[in-house]
Parts: sequence; structure tokens; C-alpha cells
Amino acid sequence: MATKKKEDLKDLFAEYPNLYKTASDDEIDACMSFAEDYKSFLDISKTEREFVKNAIEACESVGFVDIETKKTLKSGDKVYSSIRGKGLVMAVVGKKNTGFNILGAHIDSPRLDLKPCPVYEEDETCYFKTHYYGGIKKYQWTTIPLAVHGVVYTKDGKAHEIEVGEKDDDPIFYITDLLPHLADEQMKKTPRDFISGEDLNVVIGGMPVKNSKKGDKDIFKANILKYLNDNYGITEKDFVSGEIEIVPAFKARDVGFDRAYIAAYGHDDKVCAYPALMALLDQERPEKTCVTMLTDKEEIGSYSNSGAQSVLYENFLMELFSKQTGKAFDLLSYRKFISSSKMLSTDVSNAYDPKYASVSDRKNTAYMSHGIKIEKYVGARGKSGTNEANGDFVAEIIKVFNDNSVSWQTGELGKVDAGGGGTISAYMAKHGMEVIDCGVPVWSMHAPYEVISKIDLYSTYLAYKSFIENI
Ligand code: MN
Ligand code: MN
Repeated sequence: MATKKKEDLKDLFAEYPNLYKTASDDEIDACMSFAEDYKSFLDISKTEREFVKNAIEACESVGFVDIETKKTLKSGDKVYSSIRGKGLVMAVVGKKNTGFNILGAHIDSPRLDLKPCPVYEEDETCYFKTHYYGGIKKYQWTTIPLAVHGVVYTKDGKAHEIEVGEKDDDPIFYITDLLPHLADEQMKKTPRDFISGEDLNVVIGGMPVKNSKKGDKDIFKANILKYLNDNYGITEKDFVSGEIEIVPAFKARDVGFDRAYIAAYGHDDKVCAYPALMALLDQERPEKTCVTMLTDKEEIGSYSNSGAQSVLYENFLMELFSKQTGKAFDLLSYRKFISSSKMLSTDVSNAYDPKYASVSDRKNTAYMSHGIKIEKYVGARGKSGTNEANGDFVAEIIKVFNDNSVSWQTGELGKVDAGGGGTISAYMAKHGMEVIDCGVPVWSMHAPYEVISKIDLYSTYLAYKSFIENI
């Protein structure tokens, strides 16, 4: 049987144009206003804990409740579960008892964590020792303003939250670098060795404790420990239980005279987590049950009980299934149900950068401002470690996007053998559901200050919304 032929030759070609070229004034306004909300949310959500706290606040304000408080669930019910305060999973119950429509992002970002015994003084300066978290270029973390965010637990179990470096009159923290005048030896090194992991030590003070006597040791350290005790009620030993993150003190800012882009810390992956959250909050009575998962520890392999490999996320899905169907839980029924679910693994990818063109195949890369990127597979070398989405599912996604006028593009993460990466998609695909990676292209990914395009952010929000409402 002959299939229908295209009338015009140009219809045979794939084109993924820059969306700013054709966007109407109304579309630009909508994308600029979405970007303002995103920036405000990002500035108060630099760590996974802060993101969870703010996301719970946002979802409770539109009627979400902890799933534990519900015996059964009916269409329109909105529930969530905090995953140890560092991950979050939320759902709006649909009219049909079929598989879930899931959006899954991660909310941890590369950073410097404190070591368990972090405070020391050397030659009259006091420092925090750190252990970097996730894949970073270490030299990028020197000579930038840093903030301290996190929590320390004292032995009575009480949490002591610390956040310093964000307010305009707060002090910031700092990792020094060598002056160029004396950097001859350093500049001969490869960038990997400009500064070692052990040398990522953060300046936190430079005054001795008051009333110290001649011969007293560690008087600079004593001054900082006293400050921490006076202000947070903690002692040096309490850092053992600490989860203190050193993050850039930058706020999200527009980039360019025309404000086309946003620079911020932690776009990876909050630039997907935020639209995934917003798309869910838009739902009132969806056809199918819609779920947004915000996971922790993706940057270090999705391990720990707050990472995507943890059963805690699956427990929520099981509870949701069980309370929605109202029947006694049966594992095989659940497995069949969950394998009929569909998911967008909503994570960022690299955007083609003309300054570093050699790492990308220009015919198979995402471009800044060309819309959300559909990525059939990620991985490294011969697609190692990836979840590869099934072709029929890819076609289904494209149809939903096209039917809802969502602009999208596609590509790989760099040239073959140039490197690679992974996302949470593989951990969700093992439950049998259809999963595809789909998110925002980023410049300078994993740098302390990353860049995205506002129109890609908005196209991603529209894409996630169209997916959970229509797939
Ligand atoms: Mn990511
Ligand atoms: Mn990442």
C-alpha cells in the first residue's frame, strides 16, 4: 500500500529552528514571566533540602497533603511524600486506573560538602576542609563568592540550620588562587591539577579569639568555634552529623542586553525540576494519575535512600496504586500497572557552544533556544549505561508535542567517544515503564554558574504539561 507522499520537498527535511526567531510578543512575555518565577524559586532553593521545603510549601498551598493522611484516594486528590527531606514525590490522582504519567528530575547539584572534621587554622587563617560532590572542574570554585547552607544535628537530635552568604550584608566565603605573578609552575600543570581536591579549603575567618593569652594555641580556630557555638549552639564534634554544603553565593541573573538567557547556580537539574513541579501543580482532574518525582544524589549515581535507586520512591508509587485502586496490594498487579506507566526523565543536556564546537556533532546536538531536547539515549562510549527509549514511545512523545504545538529538538550528549553521562532514566526503566530523557540544554554545565535560555525553559514547561495531560 502506498503511503501518502509529501507535497513539498522541504517537508522532507528536519528543521529545528531558533524559537526566538518566530515567537510572538505574547509568547515572549509568557516566557519572560515564567523565567522571573523560576529565578525567584531558584534563589531560595539552592540545596535539595531547600528545594523540597519550598516545593512542599507550594504544593500544600494548592491542596496537596501527605499521602499518609489518606486511607483511599479518588480522582482529583493531591498527595505527596517527602523522601528524607531531600527528595520529594507528588501526585494528582486521575480519573482512570491506568499507568501513571511521571515526570522525574533531580534536585541535587554539584557543590563542595564539608568534611566531618572541617574546621582548622593555618598560619593565622581559619578554614573549612571540603569534599567535592559531583563532577566539577575544581579550579572553577576558586576566587568566587561562596555561601554556606545546611544543617547540623546535635546529640539531642535537634537540627541547627545554617545559611550564610545569601543576604546582601552577609559575609561570603572564599577559596584562594595564586597570583599570576607567581604562577609560573602552576600554569605548567594541566587544569585538573591547578588545585587539588585536598586544597579546596574555604576561608572562614582571620581574627583571634578575644582575651587569648600569649602561647595559647588555635586562637583563630577558637574564635570561629565560639562564633558557631554562640550563633548556632554547635561544637566541633557536631560537624560529624553535619550536612553543610558550600555553594556559589550568586543569585540567578539575566544574561545579555536582550535578557535571552539566565545564569544561575544549579540549573542542572532545577531547570527541569521547576517546570516538572509547575506542570503538576497545574493539574486539577487529570485523566491519568500524574506524578512528579524530585530525586537526590543523582550527581553521585542516585545512591543513598534519597537517590532514585531507593525503594522509598517505589513505596510511594505502590501506596498510590494501592490507595487509588482500593484493593488489597498485590505485587504482580502493581508490577503490571507500573510497567504500563510512562515517564519523562527530565534532566538537562549540553547545548552546542560555538566556542567549544569540536566536542559536538553539529548535526546531532541541541542548540540554545531551539526548545526542549528529546534524547533517545545518553550513556558513554557504545551507549554504555544508558536507558534507550523504545522507538514507538519516542514517536508517541513527538506526536503529543506536535499536537500541542510544543517546539522540540533532538541530539546526543557530544560526539561519539567525546565523553558521556547518565540520568535517573535507567533506574526507572527497570520497573518496566517507558522512559525517555527530555530536558533543557545548558551552557557550562556543572560550572558554579551555568546558563540556559528562557525560551527553552518555557518550551520545557509546556512540554511537561502536555505530556502529563495527554500521553
Ligand atoms: Mn542532571
Ligand atoms: Mn549533572
